[in-house]
Amino acid sequence: MQNLLITGGAGFIGSNFIPYYLAHNPEVHIINIDALTYAGSLDHLTEVEHHERYTFIKGDISDRGLIENLFEQYDIRGVIHFAGESHVDQSITNPEIFIRTNIIGTFNVIDVARHHWIAAPGRYKEAYKACRFHHISTDEVYGSLGQEGQFTETTAYAPNNPYSASKASSDFIVRSYHNTYGIDVVTTHGSNNYGPKQHEEKFIPLVIHKALAEAPITLHGDGTHVRDWLYVLDHCKGIALAYEKGTSGEIYNIGGRNERTILHMAQMVCDRLDIVHPRADKRSYRELITFIEDRPGNDLRYAVDATKIRTELGWHPTEDLEVGIQKTINWYLKKLNPQQTEHTSGNLAGDL
Ligand code: NAD
Repeated sequence: MQNLLITGGAGFIGSNFIPYYLAHNPEVHIINIDALTYAGSLDHLTEVEHHERYTFIKGDISDRGLIENLFEQYDIRGVIHFAGESHVDQSITNPEIFIRTNIIGTFNVIDVARHHWIAAPGRYKEAYKACRFHHISTDEVYGSLGQEGQFTETTAYAPNNPYSASKASSDFIVRSYHNTYGIDVVTTHGSNNYGPKQHEEKFIPLVIHKALAEAPITLHGDGTHVRDWLYVLDHCKGIALAYEKGTSGEIYNIGGRNERTILHMAQMVCDRLDIVHPRADKRSYRELITFIEDRPGNDLRYAVDATKIRTELGWHPTEDLEVGIQKTINWYLKKLNPQQTEHTSGNLAGDL
């Protein structure tokens, strides 16, 4: 049995990853450490809470003593590091916690891993040779694109806000631990995820909640900012592949090949809701869309070239954007009203 430490597993991506990974890896015991900030919820992990190969620890990755104890107690043989502050708007109003968690927290976990696994720079302790640290990062470290081009793994870093700057910093710490101490690391840069279990402060859940509350659906600027939308389970599959088969020291970009504007996504959610959960007065949810002042440092366009992970590791996204959005809407409708039946019809197939 291999003891794998997952950090931040009660968050959006981690809580999708853990059930998937447990189901596909019968020899792995997952220890999930999560501080349960406002962004984390154990409600998203009820399907594994009694799993015999799953252990939850409430704690902060910045607490060095706690991380050391976990490595000792469970003799940790691998880390997939999701924990982080992840909301750009919050990083603008309260950057300090981003520095603490994303930079110092990452340093803390990888430094404890170094002491546990590495005998001297460039030399693993015999029993720990296969131990890997996987850092979950974001395409936002590359900054913003113009109308053309895509981020590749060799694109120069150009973070534009405290969130992306803190993630870029953590990427460099991880890189340096590979080059200096020889730790086996991989880093993945995911694009904008959507799917079940995401906190309602994030864009897609926010649009769903605002629509259902018949409240204004506010979009930054004129809504023309482009993001590359990646279904969370496709991301999780890419992470698992990179963790298991990626080359040590390498970065892999993971993108959904779904470049769409914020406005397009809001309209798509509204159109689906018009079908599966129409307003009492039959007016379209689109009428709730309004525009507000753009946020400072807002990146115009992200687009990810995922050729490397596709050709080297055989990953490709399988979720269709409209189907993925419908699955996401279903999940939130069911959460808000557990009696709700799932919507797979509503002309969805005809729309594809
Ligand atoms: P999230 O905000 O939903 O979850 C983060 C989790 O980390 C929460 O459960 C929170 O409680 C936990 N956490 C925060 N601070 C902690 C601390 N000090 N100690 C322990 N746990 C702590 O984030 P997410 O969307 O699941 O993102 C996970 C990772 O993936 C982040 O590092 C993020 O930068 C990265 N990422 C996210 C996206 C995206 O679109 N959501 C895309 C690419 C990369």
